Amino acid sequence: MSLLSVIVPCFNEEENVELFYRELMKNESFFREKNIDIELIYIDDGSRDGTVGEVKRLHEKDGRVHMISFSRNFGKEAAMYAGLERAAGDYAVIMDVDLQDPPALLPDMFSYVEQGYDSVATRRVSRKGEPPVRSFFARMFYRLMKRISKTEIVDGARDYRLMTRKMVDAILSMKEYNRFTKGIFGWVGFETKWLEYENIERAKGETKWNFWKLLLYSLDGITAFSTVPLMISSLMGVLFCVVAFVMIVFIIVRKLIFGDPVSGWPSLVCIILMTSGVQFFCIGIVGQYLAKTYMEVKNRPIYVKKEEL
Ligand code: UDP
Ligand code: MG
Repeated sequence: MSLLSVIVPCFNEEENVELFYRELMKNESFFREKNIDIELIYIDDGSRDGTVGEVKRLHEKDGRVHMISFSRNFGKEAAMYAGLERAAGDYAVIMDVDLQDPPALLPDMFSYVEQGYDSVATRRVSRKGEPPVRSFFARMFYRLMKRISKTEIVDGARDYRLMTRKMVDAILSMKEYNRFTKGIFGWVGFETKWLEYENIERAKGETKWNFWKLLLYSLDGITAFSTVPLMISSLMGVLFCVVAFVMIVFIIVRKLIFGDPVSGWPSLVCIILMTSGVQFFCIGIVGQYLAKTYMEVKNRPIYVKKEEL
């Protein structure tokens, strides 16, 4: 017998907990045929609704249901890490509880693991049902990441991924505090099979992400997986020095040939404003990396457990 750990981060999802359970267990006979046991690990990410109660109810009915409950909301990244840490399976899969990651895909995913893939990932090929502005910025983000990061980060990739123990251990060995799982998956490597599907709207409740949160998350992604912004700020320094040098030469020559009196107060102000703007921008970039380093050096735990089932 082998074991499959299903990791499900939940934040205020009381309506979806049981729905997800029922949908997942539709695959039960498939896994029984393959001699695979399932353990279902709900990670309660500091929910303030009845999520914990719902999971406890399921746990009493079915011993395969487990739970880790956080002391507060730590974010989905922390929840995924906690789930992977707790997972005892030979295989692990991360899924959203809102059924946007269809459990019906699991048998298909499994067939690829049997063929020798260490990871079967999913990506949605459409962003149907998403606000157009959000889709636009998401696409820009992935395009930018492709250019500035050596790590492969795939557009539309979901966190829905089936992995072998080897890959789970590799991910767990990355104990960084600023986690960006989409990048971590790419960073650890392994042969990955990509499955594609159309976007599915969430079963019940509302998305936990707004535009602002996503923007900050994308900045986390950039600082976590690229140092190109730091290089840009150095290059900008060099560029401005070159421009300044050319201007100095120009002004000296002009003075020697034409004996020009001092003039150009407006242009001077513009130049000062612009260069100080660029300076602040560059200091800001350095500051971002410094802040991340600061948080990393503190070595705080990624999550704090309140309860475990
Ligand atoms: N989630 C979480 N912690 C959070 C936010 C979300 O564990 O702080 C979970 C949420 O319960 C869901 C999954 O992460 O199972 C995806 O969240 P959501 O559906 O809101 O994101 P979207 O699908 O809109 O990107
Ligand atoms: Mg969702």
